[in-house]
Amino acid sequence: MARYNGSVCRLCRRENQKLFLKGDRCYTEKCSFERRGYPPGQHGQGRIKFSEYGLQLREKQKIKRIYGLLEKQFRQLFEKADRTKGITGSNLLSMLERRLDNVAYRSGFANSRAEARQLVRHGHFAVNGKRVDIPSFMIGKGDVVEVREGSRPVARIGGALEAVKRREIPQWLELDATTFKARIRDLPVRDDITAPMEERLVVELYSK
Ligand code: SF4
Repeated sequence: MARYNGSVCRLCRRENQKLFLKGDRCYTEKCSFERRGYPPGQHGQGRIKFSEYGLQLREKQKIKRIYGLLEKQFRQLFEKADRTKGITGSNLLSMLERRLDNVAYRSGFANSRAEARQLVRHGHFAVNGKRVDIPSFMIGKGDVVEVREGSRPVARIGGALEAVKRREIPQWLELDATTFKARIRDLPVRDDITAPMEERLVVELYSK
């Protein structure tokens, strides 16, 4: 499967905002964006004026990068959101949040979505008692995501649970760190997503 192998800090600098792609490092002074908070490249420190299309494109790239998706997957999810009843932009964000890799990250079982994706692929998680190793698996209301018993001693998972105090567990999730379980109280809605995202621009871009 295709994946991005370049510098992830460069992506934050490109989007001119911290996207928290590297876990622990993002909260330290080693964060590249803290040190060089301007876009990469020769003209990064110059004045950049975006066209309407440029703004829409940047917003789409930003959201895609936050969730670690490539264009094809992101586009497919958008089309699914568009076919679903309701507001397309809100549907899209809700679907992104419901991905198993995101739920594992949000629950505190991993330090970043990239790490969560790898842990899911390696079969460390179960949903409602069944092993699931598909990062794009969509969780539903009432589902229980748990670290499988044999995977509980994995140092990365323990370390992430220790560090989770730095992050806020969203209201729609209920974490029980002692049993390594997270229950989906409710499906995430637009208001549950606090990161600055203007999904309207993505809808406008894909509707052209
Ligand atoms: Fe972005 Fe984290 Fe790198 Fe900072 S350390 S630039 S927040 S990925």
